Amino acid sequence: MYIRLSREDGDKQESESIGNQRKIIQRYIQENNLMFIKEYIDDGISGTTFDRPGFNELLHDIENKSINMVITKDLSRLGRDYIKTGEYIESYFPQNKVRYVAITDGIDTFADSTNNDITPFKAIMNDMYAKDISRKIRSVYKEKQKNGENLCSIPAFGYKKHPDIKNKLIIDNNVSDIVKKIFEMYANNHGCVEIANYLNNNKYLSPSGYRKTGLVQDFNKTNYDWNKVTLSNILKNEVYIGNTIQNKKTVVSYKVKKIMSVEKDKQIRVNNTHEPIINKDLFEKVQCMLNKRGTNFKPKYDYLLRGLLYCYHCKNKLQIVVKKKSNTNSYIYITCCNHKSKGCYPLNINYKKFENYIIDLIKKIIREYSSPRFLHDSYEKFNKTRIDTNKNYKKKIMQIDKLISETNDRIDKIYMDRLNGIILEDDYVRYYNKFTSERSNLITQKQDLEKVNFKVKENVNTYSINNLIESFLKLEPIEKIYLYRLIDKIEIDKNKKVFIHFNFSSIKIE
Ligand SMILES: [Zn+2]
Repeated sequence: MYIRLSREDGDKQESESIGNQRKIIQRYIQENNLMFIKEYIDDGISGTTFDRPGFNELLHDIENKSINMVITKDLSRLGRDYIKTGEYIESYFPQNKVRYVAITDGIDTFADSTNNDITPFKAIMNDMYAKDISRKIRSVYKEKQKNGENLCSIPAFGYKKHPDIKNKLIIDNNVSDIVKKIFEMYANNHGCVEIANYLNNNKYLSPSGYRKTGLVQDFNKTNYDWNKVTLSNILKNEVYIGNTIQNKKTVVSYKVKKIMSVEKDKQIRVNNTHEPIINKDLFEKVQCMLNKRGTNFKPKYDYLLRGLLYCYHCKNKLQIVVKKKSNTNSYIYITCCNHKSKGCYPLNINYKKFENYIIDLIKKIIREYSSPRFLHDSYEKFNKTRIDTNKNYKKKIMQIDKLISETNDRIDKIYMDRLNGIILEDDYVRYYNKFTSERSNLITQKQDLEKVNFKVKENVNTYSINNLIESFLKLEPIEKIYLYRLIDKIEIDKNKKVFIHFNFSSIKIE
C-alpha cells in the first residue's frame, strides 16, 4: 500500500487525504482477497521527484522480494512525472515481477499485458489532468456513499439534511405525512393517477414546488404538478425505510458526460442509515403491488366521479358500491364507508343518476364560461404547431427517400461489379446483405413517419374548427380530465344536499 500526500495536490482536499487513500486501498485489498504486507507513506513530498523516503523503502522491499505487488489509489500517487512513472510501470515493476495497481485509474499490470506497454500510457497523459480530477471526485464520492453518507444534493421528499451532521438525513415533519399518505393510499388500492389527483386537488405542492417555495400547500395556484412518475419514484424509494442506495446513476467517463443507470448489484446500498418514514411491512406490500400491477393500475370500474366524492359529515372519501341484482342488472350506489363503524350516514345515492346530474351541471357551466372566441384562437395556435410538425415530417421523409435511392444505386453497382467479375461472389453477398438491411431499416423509418403524418392530415380534414369547438362545449364524450380541472371536490350530506367545490373561486354552487 503506497500513500502519498503533498502540497501540489492541495492538502485540504479530502479526496487526497491519507485516511481516504488508505480506505480505498484497504477496500480493494479486501475485495480482491489480497494479503496486506506493509504500508508506505510519503507525507508532504511532491510527486515530481522519486527521491522520497517512503518510496525508497518500497523499492528496497521489492528488491529483497518481501513484496510482489504495489497498490496506489491512483497513478498520480505513484508520481507526477509521467515519463518516470511510465518507466516504473513499463520496465521496473515487470522486471521485478511486481504487479502494480492504480485503483481509480483502472490500471492493473497483471490484468492485461498490453497495459505494460508505454503507448496507451502516453495517450492517457494528454488528458491526465482532467481525468485525474474527475476520477478523484467520483472515487471520493463513492467512498462516502459506502459509508452510508447521503451525498444527494437534494434529499428525498420527506427528508431534510441534518443541521449539524454533514450528509445525514433527518425526517422533514412538514411533509413526511404526505409520504405516509401516498404509501397508504397505494396500499389501499388507489392507483398513482388517483393519488396524484388527490394531492393536486388538495393543493399540495409537488416535491419540486415544495423545494422552491417551502410551502406544503399553496391555495393561490391554478396548477399542481403531482404526477404518476413522481409518485412511482417515491413508492419505489428505499430511502423511506431508512436505507441509503447510491451510485444509481453514473457518468460514462470524464469525456462523455452521459448519465447511465447502474445495474442493481453495483449500486451502493447501506441499510439503516437514517430514521424510516414508512414501516417495512407497508413498504413490502407496496412493492408487491407495484410489481403486480405497475403504476398504471386502473381500478376495474373507473367511475367518472371516483376520487371527487366526499362525505359532508365525516369529510372522508365516499365509496361507490356495486350491488348485483341479477346477472345483467346491478345497482350502483354511493355510501359513506364510516356509516357502520363510526356512526356516519349511509347516504345510499344512486350513482348513475348522480353522475348525470353532475355532467349536466358541468356542461352548463362550460357553456356559460368559455368564450368561443377564446377557443377559436387556442385552436388556431394548436393547429399551426401541428402544420409545422407535419412539414417537418415531410422533410424527413424526403431525406429518407433520397437515402433509399442511394442505397438502391449501390445495390445496382455491386451487381454490375459482380457481373463484370470485379468482385468475388462472397463479397457480393456480403455487400448485398449489408445494403438490403440498411434499405429495410430506412423503409421502416419512413413508414413510421408516414403513419404520424397521415394522422395529422386526417384530423385537419375531418373536423372543422367550429365542429371541434362545438363538441368540446357539449363535452361529448365527457372526460375525467375536464371534471378534475373544474372540480376540487363534491360533498354530499345526509339529506342528499350537494356541495360542489370548484377549482376557481368565482362560482360556488350548493
Ligand atoms: Zn361520512
